[in-house]
Amino acid sequence: MRALAILDGLIASASGEQATIPACPQSSAKTELSRDTEPAPTKPRAPRVEPGKKPKPATEASPVDQASKAKLVKEKTVLADASQPTETSSSLDLTPTMLLYQSDTYLFSCTATVLAVRPQENGSSWSIALDETCFHPQGGGQPSDCGTITRIDIDSPIAVSMVKKDPSGIVWHECAEDPKVTAGTKVRCTVDEAFRRKNARLHSAGHLIDVAMARAGCSLRPTKGYHFSPGSYVEYEGKLDASDRDTLLPKVQAEIEELIAAAIPTEVVPQQPVSEAGVVRVVSVGGQACPCGGTHVKDTKELVGVKVEGIKTKGKVTRVSYSMID
Ligand SMILES: [Zn+2]
Repeated sequence: MRALAILDGLIASASGEQATIPACPQSSAKTELSRDTEPAPTKPRAPRVEPGKKPKPATEASPVDQASKAKLVKEKTVLADASQPTETSSSLDLTPTMLLYQSDTYLFSCTATVLAVRPQENGSSWSIALDETCFHPQGGGQPSDCGTITRIDIDSPIAVSMVKKDPSGIVWHECAEDPKVTAGTKVRCTVDEAFRRKNARLHSAGHLIDVAMARAGCSLRPTKGYHFSPGSYVEYEGKLDASDRDTLLPKVQAEIEELIAAAIPTEVVPQQPVSEAGVVRVVSVGGQACPCGGTHVKDTKELVGVKVEGIKTKGKVTRVSYSMID
């Protein structure tokens, strides 16, 4: 099945190249500090259900079939979130953080309770674990949200410049100054709205690229995506010769325009257990479903301005680069 092939690709790409991390608009200094620990840029985005076919109408159910789910279970692949953990497993016995951004991309603030606080080894930053969060952690080829955390009883916001999810599902919010909170402290989280919207569009555009590639007749298997800007791309396993690439590019762009004009709603299937240890969240963008933990636009109409910048083959890999007008 297509979905299983994509999961294989996800695992294979986990040790891919290192990303160049763009500066967070809230705190470029802290972003630089985190650069050494950045994970591989991405995992496969936008696996296709049936390459080469038009997506089903938006009113139909998500095209993830039961056979795909059964294979997911068989593989016991843990995909609680397509985000890749960026820290070693926490030794703390904490309940996994509730990921509020998964149910609402446009949730830009929330209240939460501090579960734990830990200073980093370098002594110049702190990480805060929360019981729930509207911050999207870095992973899955998508940048971390940034913003602020503010104690409810003191109006003194602390900048959050990097957010990571550990293997236990605890989301850690990194601050460059002592947040002066302890377990049990009530806080307000505020996400940088413009940055969140931009990242959701860039990430969703990665899905759109893959849908358009399938509709344009390309059967290569997607293996990873990188949804930072500049330099966004979706990568495929396999070669295309120069003439095929030249022919394909305008077709893909035309399909993108058609998908955008169709204003196809994004569908999110609630998390479903796929093994004893994990759940899978399935998202359909442009009528094509795949496991994904990122943030997504409401419908393809929000993706006006996606442009295919080039299709290149190097070795056994084909990369589709894209950009997006703000
Ligand atoms: Zn996604």
